Amino acid sequence: MEFAAFAARAEAIEETEADHATTVLVAALLADADGDLETVVRFLLGRVFPAHETRTLDVGPALCREAIAKAAGPNVDTADVEDRLADRGEIGAVAASYDFGGQRGLAAFGAGNGTHADGDVDGSGPTVADVDGTLRSIAAAAGDGSEGTKLDTLFGLFNRIDPPAAKILARLVLGEMRLGVGEGTVRDAIAEAFLATDAATPSDAGASGTDGDGRREDAGQDDENGEPVLTATDEDVAAVERALQVTNDYGRVAAIARDRGRPGLADQRLVVGRPVQAMLAQAGTAADALAEWDRAAVETKFDGARVQVHYAPSSPTSPGSTASTASAVDATDGIGPKLYSRNMDDVTAALPEVVELVASRVDVPVILDGEVVAVDEDGDPLPFQEVLRRFRRKHDVDRMREEVDLRFHAFDCLHAGGEDLLEAPLETRHDRLREVVPDLAATLTIADDVETIETIERRALDAGHEGIMLKNPDSPYTPGDRGKNWLKRKPDVETLDLVVTGGEWGEGRRASLFGTFEVSVRVDRAGDGEEAVHADRRFEPVGKVATGITDERLASLTDQFEPLVRSEEGTTVTFDPAVVFEVGYEEIQRSPTYGSGYALRFPRFVGVREDKDVTDADTLERLERLADAQ
Ligand code: AMP
Repeated sequence: MEFAAFAARAEAIEETEADHATTVLVAALLADADGDLETVVRFLLGRVFPAHETRTLDVGPALCREAIAKAAGPNVDTADVEDRLADRGEIGAVAASYDFGGQRGLAAFGAGNGTHADGDVDGSGPTVADVDGTLRSIAAAAGDGSEGTKLDTLFGLFNRIDPPAAKILARLVLGEMRLGVGEGTVRDAIAEAFLATDAATPSDAGASGTDGDGRREDAGQDDENGEPVLTATDEDVAAVERALQVTNDYGRVAAIARDRGRPGLADQRLVVGRPVQAMLAQAGTAADALAEWDRAAVETKFDGARVQVHYAPSSPTSPGSTASTASAVDATDGIGPKLYSRNMDDVTAALPEVVELVASRVDVPVILDGEVVAVDEDGDPLPFQEVLRRFRRKHDVDRMREEVDLRFHAFDCLHAGGEDLLEAPLETRHDRLREVVPDLAATLTIADDVETIETIERRALDAGHEGIMLKNPDSPYTPGDRGKNWLKRKPDVETLDLVVTGGEWGEGRRASLFGTFEVSVRVDRAGDGEEAVHADRRFEPVGKVATGITDERLASLTDQFEPLVRSEEGTTVTFDPAVVFEVGYEEIQRSPTYGSGYALRFPRFVGVREDKDVTDADTLERLERLADAQ
């Protein structure tokens, strides 16, 4: 598929508002994608690599703007690109506003077109596969001079495409596709394209709601709102969803759905070494938990950083191992221990003692979920900020190991001894956890009255922990799901995790440091958390944070934020949204000053949430709920 054709389809999808109509267009694109299916699916989600891969493109906004400026011709510099960005608000619109055509001749003479074979001499643009190959070569560039290589290669790519394609390419490079296509839409579209019983692909037909041919009776018609009726059944969608949770790879699942249908999807298993998304929690109380489930599994809420452990010892020796019977795990010999963060970054190198601990305790292939916590010399927990000093560290790991002591608490077991446990009830998974790592497993207590839960909560708080987690004892592990089966209960006034969108240079002694940071909530499209965020209203400010930050901290924050400056006017700057601050406050007030309609009273910097990216930041919806609850 030509990349220009993909871009045109993406544009049509972006212009479609209605959910079902969007799903139908995405499904049609997937059905036409042939050999490019996996890439097309990833591109739609703004990715080059599947979510479980730790490889990234590693192209920052500044490099992308420079490549655009270079491709736009000798009269354009990065300042011009930045002006347009301040004006238009998003990189795709900026890229599409230039005509890169005048530069094409240059590209044909080899101005760094990357790995693709077809030169641009005949005027035809790159294919989806060309763009994918070139972006992968950019990702692979490393070492001295790699920034220059990345710039030249990206410049070469922009040079070969027209404005509509440049719009999509720029967004893809920065991972912000903004097509109104979230993961839920892609899931539904995969089911629609390849599993719906009238799809011309293998599928176990005969699901509910179908007529004699296995096709839904209202298929192909519009509903009362004029939206097309989708033909995939709930079972089709659930089959895709499950395979996505297990593989964490949208492209691969699309290809399996097309080539092997529901049986192929059902065959998918966890793989040791391939991280899945972490299951998440909502806020809730003991009364909520007992009202829903009658009894609750109560655990300490550890104030640390999430870690998913993958380990397959070289030769499983445990008599309890069932590896040979149930396993479809690809290769479970001699993997890891590997440790992944909540965002599936590989943090193995930063946490050697967790690696050593797991390697010394575990003798069957496992995937474990847990939390690493910093502790003092008595073993008492230290604030979350301490663990972050260790968490993503690439240098001085040994020195920091001396300074900050860590404990690992395992609270879930997704796979053990060849057996996938995602669908097993929490209680069963926890039993298995205790079998495989008796001394690392967090204590889980089943309670059926509020008093018992409150006693456990008080004990957890007295011991210096953050609070408790309440979990449905019968619930499966649903990767990536922030459902009602896990409730977090924190007694303190909640802090907010906010995106830093701007700042101000300090004064006097602090003139070379940023002194104030503008913090913003995320604004979800139509309040649907799982869908892509709205094109031009992604973040809205709620306040400015200046207190709670030491000079030393300001210096390191200045280093962190300088490359993110998007525009500057006097002492005021705007930043590319990339960093999340945890912010405390006294109250949320209504305010006409900020676009969010709210302002935080006495906002205070608590820390940088290194473990969260901007898509994990708190939403306007949550701010509204907290404001209402005050
Ligand atoms: P929050 O980051 O405030 O949304 O709280 C959810 C986080 O609490 C999870 O992502 C985990 O990192 C952490 N956590 C701490 N203890 C537990 C536990 N026992 N079970 C699940 N999550 C926990």
